[in-house]
Amino acid sequence: MAYVRWPELDTPCLRVDLERLERNLREMAAAARERGVQMRPHIKTHKMAEIARRQLELGAIGLTVAKLSEAEALTAAGFDDFFVCYPLLGTLKLRRLLELSRRVRVMTIVESFEGVGQLAATMAGEATPLDVLIKIDTGMHRVGVPPERAHDIAWLVATQQGLRLRGVCIHEGLSYGEPDAEKRAALAAEHAARAVEVANDLRRRGHNIEIVSTGSTPGARGTLQVEGVTEIRPGNYAFYDGTQVSLGTTDWDHCAISVVATVVSHSAPDRAVIDAGSKALTVDRGAHGTSTLTGYGTIRGRPGIVIERLSEEHGWLKLQDGETLQLGEQLDIIPNHACPVANNFPTATITRAGQVIDRWNVIARGCMT
Ligand code: PLP
Repeated sequence: MAYVRWPELDTPCLRVDLERLERNLREMAAAARERGVQMRPHIKTHKMAEIARRQLELGAIGLTVAKLSEAEALTAAGFDDFFVCYPLLGTLKLRRLLELSRRVRVMTIVESFEGVGQLAATMAGEATPLDVLIKIDTGMHRVGVPPERAHDIAWLVATQQGLRLRGVCIHEGLSYGEPDAEKRAALAAEHAARAVEVANDLRRRGHNIEIVSTGSTPGARGTLQVEGVTEIRPGNYAFYDGTQVSLGTTDWDHCAISVVATVVSHSAPDRAVIDAGSKALTVDRGAHGTSTLTGYGTIRGRPGIVIERLSEEHGWLKLQDGETLQLGEQLDIIPNHACPVANNFPTATITRAGQVIDRWNVIARGCMT
């Protein structure tokens, strides 16, 4: 059964190619180092201690998370420096933030008067103030204050004992909507330049702004060129995926993650079914709702087979001219969007030179809160 490439793998399973992963981590770390910019990678993509450790070994100054529970899971694994790049509101969240801040270094964002008030009330009386960055909305209209309102937030933060303003941050997510590489770099650079302008304006007004943080994988090439950006927070670059290839951010050879699935039914020459459905591959057709891809994943080495439809546990394959499959055959599928796919599996199988060498726990998997 030569078509069963990894007989020890029960499918569907998540596979990480260690050489590709480590090369991705090294390349982005080197690009940042060359520009004198620091890395604070977003761990929502991989959610694994082994990868976070490698990122820190390559010089990252801390880890970015979206969820407190991601920071809590990584704290339990021995990590101690987090940027929770998400608006935190409400008693339950703030109680957890306070507890976390007493154990490890934590920084978060502010983007509303209400948010500043709640964080300040939470931190009042603490020996160490909480570091905050003002989240600036440079056009994505997700979270953040418009650039011209940043100084109002900065002023309010400066009057709060429990908070320390460290800088500003943006997420140049609009770079996912620009398919042309040069235009994408220019767009991301434009957003980063706006963040630097806000930082300079705040400095002129007397605020001590040390950090200008930008963050996205497709935008990194552009934001790294902007004088005044001090750190980047890419996440997806650890694995890359079909979306990044379709954007031209990278190529298939850099895609480090895949779902290994088995052909479980093949009832017509042009039709087959695999044991990976939406619970494994997700129905994502591209990050931030960009539908840039055909099908629900790309089968490595089999360009004539399209994953046409998914139900929860089944993937429906359409075989184009000349393609053949065997029942029981294993297929290696590069996901459209790596981040939610990694979140679907409790463990990742690690391979090097095609051989299974380890299994890592996805320790921050399912961290929703
Ligand atoms: N920072 C923030 C606030 C994000 O929301 C994201 C991704 O959604 C990132 C950084 C990392 O971006 P990417 O996944 O493109 O690397």
